[in-house]
Amino acid sequence: MHISLLFHGLARNSNDAASAPRPELMIPINEVRQLIESMLENGWTFGLPSRDATTKSRTCSITFDDGYFNNHLFQSVAHEHKIPFILFANSFNIACQVPFAWDIQTKIPAFDITSVYTNKSPRVCADLMSRDSVRPFRKDELRDFLSTGTAYLGLHTHKHHPLTLMTNAQIEDDLALNRKFVSHFPAALPDDLALPCGLYDKRVMTLLSRIVTRVYTTNNGPTTPGSSIIHRIPLVNPANYLPLPEQVARHMKTVSRWRRQARMLQLRLRLSNFPNSVIL
Ligand SMILES: [Zn+2]
Repeated sequence: MHISLLFHGLARNSNDAASAPRPELMIPINEVRQLIESMLENGWTFGLPSRDATTKSRTCSITFDDGYFNNHLFQSVAHEHKIPFILFANSFNIACQVPFAWDIQTKIPAFDITSVYTNKSPRVCADLMSRDSVRPFRKDELRDFLSTGTAYLGLHTHKHHPLTLMTNAQIEDDLALNRKFVSHFPAALPDDLALPCGLYDKRVMTLLSRIVTRVYTTNNGPTTPGSSIIHRIPLVNPANYLPLPEQVARHMKTVSRWRRQARMLQLRLRLSNFPNSVIL
């Protein structure tokens, strides 16, 4: 069995997390460390979905979306326990050095996320960019981050527009920009894409199957090893919800309930094909 965990930002401590514009996205690093160490004690191993997921053992992949500089806090845990992990980055924020739109204002226009930058005071953006706890990576920092042997860099689109609101041509253009950016860095995974806001539909998935090898959703886990679609469990700051191990357990329980229900439904359908059978 393979599960994949999704983080956004990290924080040095709970005070740093609480002072962020979106505290629910910032998880104190000690909480993450405790989760990883308790999973290791319980027999989980960590790796990349493309390389290390197996049917025989319980494997887990760690992923980060967007490109917050604070993700560097994970490196000490990753080195200590030899954990490879993937950062899925928006190239626009890193290349143009602008804060993430959802940190500038809570409600953002879905179709043109970048209009947030023109509508808001430059002072708001400058303030966010001056804070290491919420700003995106700079390119030199990202290069160092990716040179350590544990971090990999995947696609998360250029501007973080939901793909379901874009035409096929717009998606192709955006991903070409994102892939060009990612490919300049060491440890690039230019065929692994995490969906912005987790949104997709049949048209988007059909198109993506021609552009990338693996797509990462936010639809909880687990994922079949070798699959081209990796369902991730999104985790949030425990101060805003539940302790991290409980968040993981809750998602897993939901999935096993769905599976049980699906098995029951299949059984009912199979039995209903027999005219004299008893329907459960
Ligand atoms: Zn994102």
